[in-house]
Amino acid sequence: MARVAEHCIREIRDRASISEIVGEYVRLKKAGARSKGLCPFHQEKTPSFTVNEQMGFFHCFGCGENGDAIGFLRKHNGLGFMEAVEQLAQRVGVRLEYLDGAPTPEEGIARRKSRDERERLLELSAGVGSWFQDELKRAPRDSAVWKYIAERRLTDETVERFQLGLAPDSWDALSNALNRRGASKEDSEKLGLIMPRKTGNGFYDRFRNRLMFPIFDMSERVIAFGGRVLPSDDEREGAKYINSPDTPIYTKGDELFGLAQAKKALRAEGHAILVEGNVDVLMLHQAGLAHTVAPMGTALTEKQVRLLKRFVPEVVLLYDGDEAGLKAARKSLPLLFEADLHGRVVLLPTGADPDSYVVEHGGAALRELVEKAPPLIEFVIDDAVSRHGMSDRGRAQALAELAPLVQGIRDFRERDLVVARIGGVLGLPEARVAGMRRGRPSRDARGEGAAEVPAATRWESELPLRERKLVEASLHHPEILGWIEEVDAQAYMEDVDLRAVLWEAVTLQGETGRLDPMVLLERLGNQPIAGWVSSVLCGEPPEVSGGVQAYVKSCVQLLADGWMQRTVDELGREIERAERAGDHRLALELASKRTELARKRKQEGLDGVLTAGGGPTWSE
Ligand SMILES: [Zn+2]
Repeated sequence: MARVAEHCIREIRDRASISEIVGEYVRLKKAGARSKGLCPFHQEKTPSFTVNEQMGFFHCFGCGENGDAIGFLRKHNGLGFMEAVEQLAQRVGVRLEYLDGAPTPEEGIARRKSRDERERLLELSAGVGSWFQDELKRAPRDSAVWKYIAERRLTDETVERFQLGLAPDSWDALSNALNRRGASKEDSEKLGLIMPRKTGNGFYDRFRNRLMFPIFDMSERVIAFGGRVLPSDDEREGAKYINSPDTPIYTKGDELFGLAQAKKALRAEGHAILVEGNVDVLMLHQAGLAHTVAPMGTALTEKQVRLLKRFVPEVVLLYDGDEAGLKAARKSLPLLFEADLHGRVVLLPTGADPDSYVVEHGGAALRELVEKAPPLIEFVIDDAVSRHGMSDRGRAQALAELAPLVQGIRDFRERDLVVARIGGVLGLPEARVAGMRRGRPSRDARGEGAAEVPAATRWESELPLRERKLVEASLHHPEILGWIEEVDAQAYMEDVDLRAVLWEAVTLQGETGRLDPMVLLERLGNQPIAGWVSSVLCGEPPEVSGGVQAYVKSCVQLLADGWMQRTVDELGREIERAERAGDHRLALELASKRTELARKRKQEGLDGVLTAGGGPTWSE
């Protein structure tokens, strides 16, 4: 992959106006140095999405999403790091310096070859799609396929819109057609359209006597097929549904059936409906729920979830109410959490599927079910409780089962709500479930590109107040960092994460003479504290009574005092241990150390602590 010189990225960041770029997608209202708007990454009614023009980045106080202009374009428009960099560079007039130059001639040829193959296969695939379509049109209205279409109540309009086709009841109709058109056997086999005969020479058709559902990519090109077997007299029907195998242009589990037709409705409705069957998709589109897609025979995959995330912040699972539907709903939850997609679920009454429900009750009734669907997490909690029961053992089991799910929730406010709910349902005190709160770094954050920053995974309320105040003030007033370094303020801090932040800030300021927020966040990388740092940088500067100098100094003094107290206590314990062990010399030594510290503190007040000399030591 191409790489760009670091200084170009810095120049882009300096030149690009983040509020201008964000402003193209989000209506921003200015509030002091910052502006606010409704977050494009989660649904909200009051603005918590904040852009700090001066710092050059954004932070959402609702979902924790954050980043600079490059990050915004990546996340909002689903771009790769390089794509976003190139777009911005052009916009702000920065000439990019690529680090790894042009591809070698061999690489160039290989790339061209695979591009050519792809184009050829797409063309062949499109041709086969129209051939299936023509076969369907040619088939008499009283043939099995049209009878089936009528029985499923699919309209001509739907057949047209989804470009349905027919694979005739023949072993070689398609093979012959491909032959006549001069398509290469090799390409046809690569697309999984024909298979070599097990005996003798030649090939036979994969899809026979089936209603054909073409599968489209995002550019609405046919890349694969699904086939539904048609009722026939003899018993050689085979599997009810078969799909194209993996090919150079199609990977199972990467696509969603109906997405190409659903794109517009998805944006308008703000959520997607996920059903299991292709015919369900057709029926729901037909009933006015055109934001419906299906995963095509696989369980929902991470790729499919990410695809949906490009269009909607929320997915409603619409499954049959049987054990398989329950299981599918349970399994989807971690995937949705991981992608920070809201999930809701509708389980239909046993025996019903979306298709039959629409036929029986109509589209409006189904829409109402979908709109009233409860959050998936509530369903999963209730389900865990009902399976394990409310005995002590059952509740512990439910808790153990739910913990990893909760830790996967990236929106920290939602995580809080969920923890409270679990506590409520299980009748457990907050403290027993509170341990669930700590999140883990998001998977996104480990992706390509240096500018990626994880969502907030440590809670502000978890951070020790004094240490937090000190770090907040230092981040907003980097000029104080020199003094912080001088008195080695980090050394008095207990919180490992906050200490790391202050240390990085001091180092960065020392190295570059400025505290560039994006660089600081990059250096913090995946650390669980990074989200909090981002929120501080995008937040209001803290109120500092009596000037920054005095404020920060008093913070450090309080911390130092706390450290002193801990040290004196620790010395006391060591003295006891030494005496028990009979080491009176060590005990005396420690005792005099303790007296000295206590005396200094008494005589010189807190200033004495800061200059106590020797400095505190701490170890991890
Ligand atoms: Zn948000």
